Amino acid sequence: MIIKFREDANRQDIDFLREHLLTLGFEVHETIGDTYTIFSIIGDTTRFDANSLYAFKFVETVVRIQEPYKKVSRKYKPTDTIVDVAGVKIGGNNVVIIGGPCAVETREQMDLIASLIKTAGARILRAGAYKPRTSPYSFQGLEQKGLLLLSEVRKKYHLPVVSEILSAADIPLFLDSVDMIQVGARNMQNYALLKELGKIKLPILLKRGLSNTIEEWLMSAEYIVSGGNENVVLCERGIRTFESSTRSTLDISAIPVIKKISHLPIIVDPSHASGSWEYVASLSQAAIAAGADGLLIEVHPEPEKALSDGQQSLKPDRFADLVIRCRSIAEAIDRTLI
Ligand code: PEP
Ligand code: MN
Repeated sequence: MIIKFREDANRQDIDFLREHLLTLGFEVHETIGDTYTIFSIIGDTTRFDANSLYAFKFVETVVRIQEPYKKVSRKYKPTDTIVDVAGVKIGGNNVVIIGGPCAVETREQMDLIASLIKTAGARILRAGAYKPRTSPYSFQGLEQKGLLLLSEVRKKYHLPVVSEILSAADIPLFLDSVDMIQVGARNMQNYALLKELGKIKLPILLKRGLSNTIEEWLMSAEYIVSGGNENVVLCERGIRTFESSTRSTLDISAIPVIKKISHLPIIVDPSHASGSWEYVASLSQAAIAAGADGLLIEVHPEPEKALSDGQQSLKPDRFADLVIRCRSIAEAIDRTLI
């Protein structure tokens, strides 16, 4: 970390800050220039709030050199993390397709979708039992009954399942019925929830918040990993921009950026990113080509009748077609769609 003093900082100010930093356990190197004095701070600044230094009126600029996250960083662990979801390995050379309806609706719906997506090549089933809807009057999910239906199809089709959690109080229920827990975009910065998820071992699918930077997203992952749960998969699901032709804007750049700075796997959700079934295939192909470790795609046998997100859900035959295309793209870049 580098600290630049204001031009009018005097010797007393400079020595005062040095004492403060030494008390915090840092090594301090001073450089006196013609106009400015600069401190180079050596030590682990992960736990230090660099902005707090602006409380000293003689500090002009503070520049962090070290990232604020640690355990999710590729510097900390250079090899790719591979997350095992009940035998399905996400990360490394694998490309994994996760599919399913936005919400669990009925036993018949889940049974049909599980069978169709499995035949098409999906390795994990995703469906929401607890739905974070913008309107309190919209369908909120079948809740506990939904988790029960999920665990039924999981057993019948030997398909690992993932579902979204809204409250830490529900963790015991989820541990009994799913193989992976999704943290939705709206809860990416629910730190109380993230801390509790850090105490379990079940894999976590951490979606990027609607308007969050990659650094903020990785800080959320750091909450889970630093708590002791290293099984985190990131999910890019589009961010808010000025563009209104699509529901959100899929940040394809997030894929190579995450690959460079973190060892965690990253998958892409083109359904919520675009908000329209018509764009899902193109975005899926782009995501695989850019190096994503998998896709999360909404599929419904009758999208017109879906209780949520029907407009962005693929019919099963389109989903099957998309898996075939994505397999070719994965092969072209020497990866395996498992
Ligand atoms: C979902 O996956 O159904 C969902 C609500 O997504 P997001 O949290 O990305 O909006
Ligand atoms: Mn949805």
